Amino acid sequence: MKNGILVVISGPSGAGKGTIVGRILKELDNIGFSTSMTTRNPREGEVDGQDYFFVTEEEFKKAIEEDAFVEYANVHGNYYGTPKSEVASRLGRGMNVLLDIDVQGAMNVKKQMPEGVFIFISPPSMEELRARLEGRGKDSTEDIERRLKNAEGEMKLIDEYDYHVVNDDLDTAVKKVKEIIIKEEIKEGSSHDAISGN
Ligand code: ADP
Ligand code: 5GP
Repeated sequence: MKNGILVVISGPSGAGKGTIVGRILKELDNIGFSTSMTTRNPREGEVDGQDYFFVTEEEFKKAIEEDAFVEYANVHGNYYGTPKSEVASRLGRGMNVLLDIDVQGAMNVKKQMPEGVFIFISPPSMEELRARLEGRGKDSTEDIERRLKNAEGEMKLIDEYDYHVVNDDLDTAVKKVKEIIIKEEIKEGSSHDAISGN
């Protein structure tokens, strides 16, 4: 059996990665989300074990010592990491795996798994990015400012990615990401059965 494809999505906070990922998971078959571990506090409505595994800094450090991560990074002041348990076994079973991780994490994964598909999601403008972060209404003003400041550095890494999708109109962006995944699946010789919805 063919291994699944590793799809890494990153880009500035507020660009719409989570929204796009949610749609992809609904609209494509045979793709699973890699739930990260984080020391960030849960936002209203987030579910432990689904959106993230929410842990203390002590628990996170223990996981680092146990070599439990594919990669981890400090992002906007909190730790985030991709558990090995979320990735390798699924890929080995032929399932595609979707990661929503920051640029540091993506570059780290690229070194280990250059065969992955790396997609950068950007907002149509920095003004729109601010509007989305404010409109989401889940982060403090201070946190939003930090995320906007970090976005400038993150945008400089676009060229390191295989694909760049501007998330202006949501449906168009989702369609583009789906097309990339389907194209890469065909390239890998995976079955067309993996495609559903539309
Ligand atoms: P990220 O996961 O990149 O931090 P989110 O998916 O949480 O971003 O999106 C940030 C905010 O922008 C959310 O309120 C979301 O509903 C909104 N959003 C996402 N995509 C679009 C879009 N194409 N047009 C307008 N608003 C969007
Ligand atoms: P948020 O706090 O908005 O959920 O996520 C902040 C940033 O952390 C986003 O850019 C998101 O992609 C990134 N992130 C989420 N999980 C991981 C992870 O496991 N590793 C890394 N490096 N970044 C992550």
